[in-house]
Amino acid sequence: MRYVSTRGEDRGAGFREILLGGLMEDGGLAMPAEYPRLSAADLDAMRTMNYRELAFAVLRLFADDVPEGVLRALIDKTYTAEVYSNGSNAEEITPVRTLEPGVHLLELSNGPTLAFKDMAMQLLGNLFEWALAERGESLNVLGATSGDTGSSAEYAMRGKRGIRVFMLSPHGKMSAFQTAQMFTLMDENIHNLAVRGVFDDCQDVVKAVSNDLEFKRRYRIGTVNSINWARVVAQVVYYFKGYFAVAPGAGAPVDFAVPSGNFGNICAGHIARMMGLPIGRLILATNENDVLDEFFRTGIYRPRGTTETQQTSSPSMDISKASNFERFVFDLVGRDSARIRSLWAQGAFDLSGTDARRFGFVSGSSTHTGRLATIRRTWERYGVVVDPHTADGLKVGMELRSVSTPLICLETALPAKFAATIQEALGREPERPSKFDGIEALPQRSRVIDADAGVVKRIIEESVS
Ligand SMILES: *Cc1c(COP(=O)(O)O)cnc(C)c1O
Repeated sequence: MRYVSTRGEDRGAGFREILLGGLMEDGGLAMPAEYPRLSAADLDAMRTMNYRELAFAVLRLFADDVPEGVLRALIDKTYTAEVYSNGSNAEEITPVRTLEPGVHLLELSNGPTLAFKDMAMQLLGNLFEWALAERGESLNVLGATSGDTGSSAEYAMRGKRGIRVFMLSPHGKMSAFQTAQMFTLMDENIHNLAVRGVFDDCQDVVKAVSNDLEFKRRYRIGTVNSINWARVVAQVVYYFKGYFAVAPGAGAPVDFAVPSGNFGNICAGHIARMMGLPIGRLILATNENDVLDEFFRTGIYRPRGTTETQQTSSPSMDISKASNFERFVFDLVGRDSARIRSLWAQGAFDLSGTDARRFGFVSGSSTHTGRLATIRRTWERYGVVVDPHTADGLKVGMELRSVSTPLICLETALPAKFAATIQEALGREPERPSKFDGIEALPQRSRVIDADAGVVKRIIEESVS
């Protein structure tokens, strides 16, 4: 598989070459030069596969320069009942829970940090470790987090040879549970840096360090952010798993509702559909930060700045500039990279002449009130507690549902992570997987620092030497 950039660069890069990278050299995002197409016979053979077999069948098409034995071993080590142990059926890795006939939840949050990001990040940790050992290299992962991504990255990279993680978070601003999840990790390669400031300050420091190209090269600074292609493609697998779990027959369409922020999760659904998986519609749900909903309703894309971004009770979707969106627009404009360059140079643009519905996309949005009502209704009707992000997807999914087509709503976090909102909706705390009992009382390790790139550089230098 050859990877090209959405902005036009095509130097014949393979999967291994783009695995550790972020943006392509021309500032675009990596995309497969063409999508592998699966025949009806291919799909039929996949129908009864377990998660690991499906992951191998999908990923080998995209990572064809990783030896098959290696890829299989990394997948087998990643997708185990021990790693994804928090759900209704650990053997299934991503079990389906039926809410009512034709409406299902796909459990994606049963990994170590209770959010769907573990689905891809755990594989990324194992892929990175292997790729670095092959090259005899090491990597210092530098990132900023307001909660979910940072903990997912730390649990994926802890104890991995050749990798150190430096994770900046806003001091005192994460929930007690999120803080405990990250700061109780005692692995020597994990460095939690609590920054006096807000999330944006953390991100500014990361940018400042990364913009020092000499430092970046000398200390092999890398990221695990959501534009990483391997993360996106690892997420394609569970669309297949969910599809086969509920499709009434070969070729029958299934709709998916996806709570969206950076457009990574639903981009994986788009890829699965382009490969020939019979996905009917991809129902995109946003919260109050509805840039993507506006685009899919009107064709107008108007990204907003941080001051226009609201803080909501589904915080992992508080994004007004979706980093993976460019991947979809690349397909929407017929892979015309000159057009992509000019659209992104404009910043905001009008594509109302194009037809996103041709790719199955429809959209809607939710608010705090809608979220609370959905959490309440889901509990009352089905006896199931969903987290606020999943509730956004479920709300929009139910509104846009077609009664003749099965609907799968992606569960992107467990309610235990967002106890305050569950308390507000249901008047009680959500259940917590027993292994997290009392986690807030365990010893924690972190360093409180000023929002200063020089300080972060010094900490990296000291840990490396
Ligand atoms: C990251 C995240 C999302 C948004 O997913 P994207 O891939 O960024 O669209 C939704 N819900 C939860 C709980 C998340 O952590």
